[in-house]
Amino acid sequence: MHRRITVPGALAAACLLLAIPASAASHSPGAPGIGDPYYPDYGNGGYDVSHYDLRLKYQPATDELEGTATIEARTTQDLSSFDLDFLLDVSEVRVNGAKAAFTTSGQHELVVTPRTPLDKGTPVTVVVRYRGVPSTKSAYGFTTWHRTPDGAVAADEPEAAWWWFPSNDHPLDKATYDVSVAVPDGTQAISNGTLQSTSSKLGWTRYNWRQNKPQATYLATLALGKFDITTGTSEGGVPVVNAYSKDLGDNDGAARASVERTGELVDWLSGYFGPYPFASAGGYVPNTTTGYALETQTRVYYSPKQFANGSNASVVVHELAHQWYGDSVSLKGWKDIWINEGFARYAQWLWSEHEGEGTTQELADYVYASHPADDAFWTVKPGDPGPDNQFDAAVYDRGALAIQALRNAIGDDAFFAVLKGWPQRHAYGNASVADFQKYAEQVSGKPLAALFDTWLFQPSKPAAPAARAAALAPGRTAPARPESWRRIEATNDVHAR
Ligand SMILES: [Zn+2]
Repeated sequence: MHRRITVPGALAAACLLLAIPASAASHSPGAPGIGDPYYPDYGNGGYDVSHYDLRLKYQPATDELEGTATIEARTTQDLSSFDLDFLLDVSEVRVNGAKAAFTTSGQHELVVTPRTPLDKGTPVTVVVRYRGVPSTKSAYGFTTWHRTPDGAVAADEPEAAWWWFPSNDHPLDKATYDVSVAVPDGTQAISNGTLQSTSSKLGWTRYNWRQNKPQATYLATLALGKFDITTGTSEGGVPVVNAYSKDLGDNDGAARASVERTGELVDWLSGYFGPYPFASAGGYVPNTTTGYALETQTRVYYSPKQFANGSNASVVVHELAHQWYGDSVSLKGWKDIWINEGFARYAQWLWSEHEGEGTTQELADYVYASHPADDAFWTVKPGDPGPDNQFDAAVYDRGALAIQALRNAIGDDAFFAVLKGWPQRHAYGNASVADFQKYAEQVSGKPLAALFDTWLFQPSKPAAPAARAAALAPGRTAPARPESWRRIEATNDVHAR
């Protein structure tokens, strides 16, 4: 029963103060989600993480993972309790050194109640001891922990962290990482950033990886298995670390012929996007049965299937473009996915032009003509596709088409200034589609609201101006399929689950 409150506010507050110590009265639980409408339970409220220190041990034979996560954070409200997103079995949690109460809740929430409430704006150290068999854990009926014959891999979007470390699992809360993993001698552990050191003792080898720039949780990756690791430095001076499963079979040559070009392609992309934002680059190809690639920060994840038809430098260009568009500059909410995928796809179009396999305009014309007005393709709004269509082909292809439309509207000088200036403007931070529009307007001096609305936010096929369907050669009813098309589209099945 709801009763109208007749007690004056001041009196009600005074009564409350009698019951609860003054210091705790204003403390409340942190929200179980960070506030993303696409994924209401992802991330958490009330604190901001600055660093994850993960000390892990993994047994490939049994898929047992155990470890200690030390999380450095700062509170953003007065907290009586807070959540972490996690699925493994927790044995102890400490907050600022003192044992804390904890319980699980919902699909992937670990609710932590510190012994004493936490005041807003104070630094907090959270230590979580845990163990478990990640492959036995699921949330919402799925798992993104991929077992391989010789180990396992964590690499997926938008969720992968729950299976290997407790976190504030949303790109809005980026942090630096130290990932230290012990595996049996002869097995390798691959993660993000630079390999600081390795050591061996009593049959176990420990790999110490460091990511010294802010990184979104879904871009943290872990691969455990038997790998051949290669190292080098790009002509432009970027250290490169790649890794290949020793069991790639017939895909081994094509995988290396693609991923070993990482340094060359990082340097080439720097010409468009500005200096490479991280201390290392690279990729790894584990022997998974998945089909996609993912822009895991500084260490891109490639499924062997990406190379089943031969080498594919285009997919490497796509994932490396994300290092600027998606990784250094991360989305604010998952609805901003165009900031990631539109630009990574457009980078593939630029590569196609560079290789003489179709210009960006030819690719734009082909996409435009390939989908008639009644094609469901046009009902997906790249600027806000909804969680079910977040990785729809339209986000990529219509997304890149929108970028070509922008280029045609503001001209090459302004366009390439935007392309290079944006990653600097928001380096290591977060930004939205609206922020991008504002920035493009500022650089070009042109109002762009109508253009962005037409190409990113209307559920219908835009009328022709920028697509230039009229520019077809006389007698042609549709533009020819550019030579690069097949390899570009092969990047598409990124997120089938
Ligand atoms: Zn992508």
